[in-house]
Amino acid sequence: MGRDSYDAIVVGARCAGSPTAMLLARKGYRVLVVDRATFPSDTLSTHILHPPGVEAMQRWGLLERLVATGCPPIDTYAFDFGPFTLSGSPGTAAAPVAYCPRRTVLDKLLVDAASEAGAEVREGFTVKEILTEGDRVVGVRGRGSDGQTVDEDSRVVIGADGRFSSVAAAVRPEQYNEKPMLLCGYYSYWSGLPTDGRFEVYIRPDRGFAAAPTHDDLTLVVAGWPYSEFEANKNDIEGNYLRMFDLAPEFADRIRSANREARFAGTAVPNFFRRPFGPGWALVGDAGYNKDFITAQGIMDAFRDAELCSTALDQWFSDDRPYDEAMGEYQATRDEHVGPMFEFTCQLATLEPPPAELQQLLGAVHGNQAAMDGFARVNSGVTSPAEFFADENVERIFASANERDRSSASTG
Ligand SMILES: Cc1cc2nc3c(=O)[nH]c(=O)nc-3n(C[C@H](O)[C@H](O)[C@H](O)COP(=O)(O)OP(=O)(O)OC[C@H]3O[C@@H](n4cnc5c(N)ncnc54)[C@H](O)[C@@H]3O)c2cc1C
Repeated sequence: MGRDSYDAIVVGARCAGSPTAMLLARKGYRVLVVDRATFPSDTLSTHILHPPGVEAMQRWGLLERLVATGCPPIDTYAFDFGPFTLSGSPGTAAAPVAYCPRRTVLDKLLVDAASEAGAEVREGFTVKEILTEGDRVVGVRGRGSDGQTVDEDSRVVIGADGRFSSVAAAVRPEQYNEKPMLLCGYYSYWSGLPTDGRFEVYIRPDRGFAAAPTHDDLTLVVAGWPYSEFEANKNDIEGNYLRMFDLAPEFADRIRSANREARFAGTAVPNFFRRPFGPGWALVGDAGYNKDFITAQGIMDAFRDAELCSTALDQWFSDDRPYDEAMGEYQATRDEHVGPMFEFTCQLATLEPPPAELQQLLGAVHGNQAAMDGFARVNSGVTSPAEFFADENVERIFASANERDRSSASTG
């Protein structure tokens, strides 16, 4: 094949890769997207899709398809801290609900959308080598399902190949804001455990678990403990998982009368940012920015990367902006957007009890519906933690709690 058979080759066809391929193909570019997996297939991940991710699917014209799969909507996030529960709406007027779609369903839908947009999709194709000329990436060498090794060339190779990215391993980008593994989490699917449209989160010292409704009338239940307990607990995942529920007796009663329908799956992940571009290469999704899954941001972050990166590449392909300038903006926008959430996520992932000041604030949030909605929206990625925890907002929440206390004292 001659040089630049494609404008872009995307390695990885799940949440980051397929939307990136789809958006570039919709702009008329020649795109090849490959994955060693075939679809539909599962991957090691729970799958809360917060409202901003749902909104992205709406923008792309794919939300109706997701809804048509029968995935139940989630209109309430409830954070049970033990003494009280903060229950609020996670969405916005434009995207009021979240979903928890099985990755078998979501990823297949995204791959099909890339293909429909005109991207060439090769499933069962493993990239073995990133091809370079000097310091520039010029293509990939890989093996297809027919066992043949082929070289493919393109103007840019986009690593959407997850946190163990082979594209990143080849180009060795700068890695920054690194934090070690903080939490290990394990999940399974349960029947007979309805949550009535709620994403339930239980926070206890050194323990956290959550339940969300998914396809086929099943409920996903994920539970985690600090990474420091990984070794001690790894031979009794089930026992540790089940014992955790005793910390929330009402939930323990409910799950005792439910049935587990799948094996446990789980892992721990490191936290890092990678420079997401260089000569002839780019990174999207977990390949470029990985964080603990406690706040379930990864899928919508991958969607956002797909939009930002495809926009930047379009500017470069169409000679509107130099490559470094357009892609530099992609990196800056990503980092600015996710920075406060990254810190919030890493703090939560320690599973340490909230500091006294935060406990006071959460107590003041309790019972204030606007503030509880605000807290739900921080967790859903709608509102930045920087905005919610800003002095002005905190003062407003405390003032409102004081007002409530005064009026209940005067009526009591
Ligand atoms: C336990 C756990 C729970 C999580 N829960 C949530 C949650 O509730 N909500 C949420 O939003 N996020 C969650 N996440 C994060 C989420 O899974 C990721 O952020 C998301 O999958 C990233 O998508 P991606 O497309 O970047 O990478 P991936 O989903 O990892 O996809 C990468 C793809 O690249 C392919 N690939 C890799 N190397 C090659 C190669 N050499 N050749 C060809 N193909 C290759 C792989 O086969 C794979 O299909 C969770 C993660 C974990 C680990």
